[in-house]
Amino acid sequence: MKFALVNPHWSWEGSTYFGSQAPVVPLELLGAREFLRRAGHEVLLIDAFLLKLTTDEVRVQLEGFGEDFLVMPTANSYLFWRCPQPELRVPQAWLRALTTGRTHRPTTVIIGPHGSSTPIATLNKTGADVVLRGEPDSNLPLLATTPRFAIPGCVWKENGRVMQASEPLGVVDMKMVSHLDFSDYPIELHTHKHHIFTPVEGLGAELEFARGCPYACTFCNKTQFRNKYRERDVAEVVAEIDALMARGVTYIYFIDEIFGVGKNVRTLLEEIAKRPSLSIGFQTRIDLWDEAGFDLLGRAHCISMECGIESITEQGRDEMNKNCKYSTERITELLVYAKTRIPWVQANLIKTPHDNPEEVRAFQDHLKANGVWVSEPVPMFPFPGSPEYVTTFGAQPDDRAWERAHEFYLNLFADKGFSDIQDQQPIPLPELESACR
Ligand code: SF4
Repeated sequence: MKFALVNPHWSWEGSTYFGSQAPVVPLELLGAREFLRRAGHEVLLIDAFLLKLTTDEVRVQLEGFGEDFLVMPTANSYLFWRCPQPELRVPQAWLRALTTGRTHRPTTVIIGPHGSSTPIATLNKTGADVVLRGEPDSNLPLLATTPRFAIPGCVWKENGRVMQASEPLGVVDMKMVSHLDFSDYPIELHTHKHHIFTPVEGLGAELEFARGCPYACTFCNKTQFRNKYRERDVAEVVAEIDALMARGVTYIYFIDEIFGVGKNVRTLLEEIAKRPSLSIGFQTRIDLWDEAGFDLLGRAHCISMECGIESITEQGRDEMNKNCKYSTERITELLVYAKTRIPWVQANLIKTPHDNPEEVRAFQDHLKANGVWVSEPVPMFPFPGSPEYVTTFGAQPDDRAWERAHEFYLNLFADKGFSDIQDQQPIPLPELESACR
């Protein structure tokens, strides 16, 4: 069978999304391609975002290929599945443009965070035939061979009725994610280097060493995918690093939810330390590290580390179920130490009633005086895949979950405006999506 995997050309005008707007490597599609090829399928992977392609240009390629399945994500790479834009404007427009009026209409398949938490709303909004909830990489090949009710995470419509597989979510065995083939991926165009603030020559790329996280912070939108912690084989990741370095990549950002869990990451860092022309960046938790760990990170040329501290008080962290093993004093000490080894150290805060603004200011001032960048405390979007959604609205997400969360979030800023965290005034979700209906 033929599978087309298309990363659309993303745009976020009017969105509450304030993550990176640069193309990042679509790891979910590259991973899926490996599983599909191993199962004997033919795959066309088009990164329309990186290549700046229009729907007309992609459509021409698809018509030449004649895919049986057209697969599209609802967020710009796995990196942003936990904090995606709420609106489905881009996948809606792209699926329609790529399928309307085709003589051979493929089965359309949506993957990503929206379908994972609200599959029926996602089917309805995008007009897709199938939603795969959870991690799709290893389940996509099953669409060609297996009844849908037996494909983990599969949701589809049959005679107007929504049907769901008995296994609600896809979860990938990460030991099966062998090294990704970048040979025909245009990495030479990938000049973006994620989350660095010092100039580095060469190309950037993103990789994953591990997926998931053993913690359960209330605000974290990971319960429907990338939830359980799983590592890849170090050798597979090192092979990817070497293949990318041979193509001119000098900086790799690990998209792992929290880089640094487990002993194998130390083995990986020792391997990276042997490659002096490579530097790395990642997100982590401060309580996974100590001084010796930061020394190792320095040797592994880590140039960017972002830590979710969330609250400057233990009560605040406990309320978010952060389960942090360090005191605020120890956190501060380690951030300052980390900055002596890593050029960019960032501490992120979330707005909580437990934190006194003057104490927050003192915490920020002390760290900034030592070179650590500290965010302003901002409210979190109650993503439908987060425990926070259920606490806030008192119910599991339904078909209006994204609209409800979006309204709630806009109201948090009604008095003071959005200028602290984003340049543009967000547009209500129904308005954002209505242009595509
Ligand atoms: S540490 Fe908390 S916020 Fe970070 S990935 Fe894990 S659950 Fe999510």
